[in-house]
Amino acid sequence: MTFVYIGLGSNLCDPENQLRSAFAALKQLQDTHVKRTSSIYRSAAVGPGTQPDYLNAVLLLATKLSPTALLDATQQIELNQGRVRDIRWGARTLDIDLLLYGDLQIDSPKLTVPHPRMQQRNFVLYPLREISGTNLSLPDGSDLDTLLKQCTNAGLIKTKYRLLTN
Ligand code: ADP
Ligand code: MG
Repeated sequence: MTFVYIGLGSNLCDPENQLRSAFAALKQLQDTHVKRTSSIYRSAAVGPGTQPDYLNAVLLLATKLSPTALLDATQQIELNQGRVRDIRWGARTLDIDLLLYGDLQIDSPKLTVPHPRMQQRNFVLYPLREISGTNLSLPDGSDLDTLLKQCTNAGLIKTKYRLLTN
């Protein structure tokens, strides 16, 4: 089993329901258990044009799936929930990002781990810290608490909602 942090995001078609559906699908994945879930966070969209606010959450999984098998599975969940890949960083019904896969560093054409943009994203770092419960060392030698000090939480709202593990 490897511990894996993933990020969920949605800003279209009832985002809270999108996160709940994704969570239900993740719980069904073979050889995978959802161990922890963050609160649901709300933030203004970054990306092209005017977009609705995002809802985000971070989950801790324990899995026997390989990184690419897990990516394939999460991309299938994105597709099942009507994700259309058109504009890069455009609005989406569901985005699932592999943030950390154990201590692995992966740099392949379809998968980069740790996720290359997680270090600047408050909607990743703050929920990640909420569920890690402790500072985390990243494979490149950086650590979560230092990244948090460099990352404002301005515009990030922690809601009272969360995806329940049981
Ligand atoms: P973003 O999440 O940056 O908005 P997309 O969700 O559209 O971008 O993903 C584009 C591509 O990024 C995917 O097809 C996938 O192959 C690739 N990718 C690379 N690294 C990762 C990762 N760690 N998690 C998820 N997708 C990744
Ligand atoms: Mg993505």
